[in-house]
Amino acid sequence: MGLPLNVKAGNDGLPMKTFRGFLLDADNTLLDYNRAEREAFLQAVVPALPGVPPEQARLAYGRINAEHWARFERGEITAGQLKLGRFQALLDSFGLQADPAGLSRVYLEALSAKAFFLPHAREVLEELSRQAALCLITNGLTLVQRGRIRASGMGRFFSAILISEEVGIAKPDPGFFRLASEALALPASELLCVGDNPTADIGGARGAGIAGCWYNPAGGAWPGPGDPPERTIADLRELLGFAEPGA
Ligand SMILES: [Mg+2]
Repeated sequence: MGLPLNVKAGNDGLPMKTFRGFLLDADNTLLDYNRAEREAFLQAVVPALPGVPPEQARLAYGRINAEHWARFERGEITAGQLKLGRFQALLDSFGLQADPAGLSRVYLEALSAKAFFLPHAREVLEELSRQAALCLITNGLTLVQRGRIRASGMGRFFSAILISEEVGIAKPDPGFFRLASEALALPASELLCVGDNPTADIGGARGAGIAGCWYNPAGGAWPGPGDPPERTIADLRELLGFAEPGA
């Protein structure tokens, strides 16, 4: 379809290795999660907070949500406590009484319908899926991610879809990436894992012996863990140069 390609040579100046399979992260790699979260919050949560300015509510929720995720990742609370606790804390912070479970439900329902492609994601998926086998790899809730995949229409581009809640294991556990390798019936050496998260996507793939491609549209410095991955891209169209020619 005549996409402008930007095929880079490796650090040694030689063309880089190509791949038969791609593991692609969903949120903030293919889909704009920040926009989805913002719109779902404004639609579902703000109306339940009478008298609270929307921006103030969003700032408070951002802080509370981050605190709850940090506690969840430290093993201090369960996923269920995360889902409800953040809305209870939000209500408490504004001295409001409401049902946090109901708020969580309407928020997740709204979020599950929000799917916005990042620049060039759709056209790259269409072209890349003709050249290589694709597996979607995402940490998240089944209800939310299945809904967003359906809303985006991108499911047809993937040979396999792995959602952490569905498979019972999450990035960066190497076992998650081995499942992806099995799902595509390709060995680790034939795969490239593409994602925006240095720990979950790149570190996780590395743990399973899979090459990494960091999606870094903002152009920031590699924060670790470890050395930078084999590849870094700022534009998803660069992926088309990494598929095996004629595959
Ligand atoms: Mg991501």
